[in-house]
Amino acid sequence: MTLTQQRRLVTALPGPRSAEILARKADAVASGVAHSVPVAVVEAGGGVVLDADGNSLIDLGSGIAVTTIGNAHPKVAAAVAAQVERFTHTCFMISPYEEYIAVAEALNRLTPGDFPKRSALFNSGAEAVENAIKIARKHTGRSAVVAFEHGYHGRTNLTMALTAKAMPYKSGFGPFAPEVYRAPLSYPFRDGLNGADAAARAIAIIEKQVGAAELAAVIIEPIPGEGGFIVPADGFLPAVQEWCRANGVVFIADEVQSGFARTGTMFASEQLEIEPDLITTAKGIAAGLPLAAVTGRAEIMDAAHAGGLGGTYGGNPVACAAALAAIDVFENDGMLERAQRIGDLLRTRLEIMRQNDPRIGEVRGRGAMMAIEFIDPLTREPDAALTAAVVKACIGEGVIVLACGTFGNVIRFLPPLTIPDDLLHEGLDVLTAALSGL
Ligand SMILES: *Cc1c(COP(=O)(O)O)cnc(C)c1O
Repeated sequence: MTLTQQRRLVTALPGPRSAEILARKADAVASGVAHSVPVAVVEAGGGVVLDADGNSLIDLGSGIAVTTIGNAHPKVAAAVAAQVERFTHTCFMISPYEEYIAVAEALNRLTPGDFPKRSALFNSGAEAVENAIKIARKHTGRSAVVAFEHGYHGRTNLTMALTAKAMPYKSGFGPFAPEVYRAPLSYPFRDGLNGADAAARAIAIIEKQVGAAELAAVIIEPIPGEGGFIVPADGFLPAVQEWCRANGVVFIADEVQSGFARTGTMFASEQLEIEPDLITTAKGIAAGLPLAAVTGRAEIMDAAHAGGLGGTYGGNPVACAAALAAIDVFENDGMLERAQRIGDLLRTRLEIMRQNDPRIGEVRGRGAMMAIEFIDPLTREPDAALTAAVVKACIGEGVIVLACGTFGNVIRFLPPLTIPDDLLHEGLDVLTAALSGL
């Protein structure tokens, strides 16, 4: 790794060179495409992001859980360079190539469930989710889909409909795709229900308001990402899955954010004791190159007629080469253990912060997917203003952290697994100081 692993601020943010580039952004890029860190990046890797003025920021976000093995892993860089020299594209639907097939084989092997599987590759998480729904509808001959409170599934029309939060994802962008219904999630910190009771509540609503006979699929993030890293109570997900199985409903786990070693297992489903019929993946899959997938039971995946699935770029060979290199790193370079160790470090430090500050209501998550929820200590009401202030203060001090949560009151930690421990500690020191100053 050539990039010096340190936090270093040589200007206030944005520095003059970044400010110049960001002024061009304001002129040239649609303002709906916002950004949260006022820098123009020139290099990134390990656990830091370097800007155009020479500022080096600690990265606790991984570009939203994408660069799990860093932004420039040497094995990925070499695989991409070699693939670009051989060919960049043929279109898999015209003249197939081995790299796509090898990614499908790896996904079929790595995803939970010991049954025959198939995979299909796409470009983005939203596109994978769209295709999972298409496949479930074709397989069942039914049309309705249930998604959950606090769920996030993307920004296309169907995935906006599946997504719970209106602002900023949906407001003004409707009408949305029909036949999408919403069920209550298990949110132990706020609903106090055990997993069985939370599942019974959700299932009762699904049965009364939708009806199993109409229902093609239930889609759920095992740990909701944008929704606030809410870990459902034990038994909630298995009970929902069990109901789906008994009623011929396809159970889809959206692991676009939680997949690929992020939580300390290859998929969060393993820890939450589910074996989804279909699983959607993207983000961490290819170390930053755009790639996504649907993987699942062969008899469901094969329901779509020939030509019914695909896309010009889906399973692009360069992205597949990156994914194969990344998967090699995930499996063979101790990444699961590293995510568990980062999880222990984060949990220990964040719990100490919580004990010293009643504005932190809960520390939760798994592995390198941890979060803190900010509340008013008296009323337990979500405190979005404090959350925004903490995020802004951290960024100003050169530590990239991301907010999330339906109520905007959660800070999530998604560090690259390649970050050195001392930078993690330093990032948390900056967070502690920022919070104590607010
Ligand atoms: C990010 C995300 C998506 C959408 O992925 P894109 O690649 O942005 O389309 C879908 N589901 C979950 C759980 C996500 O975190």
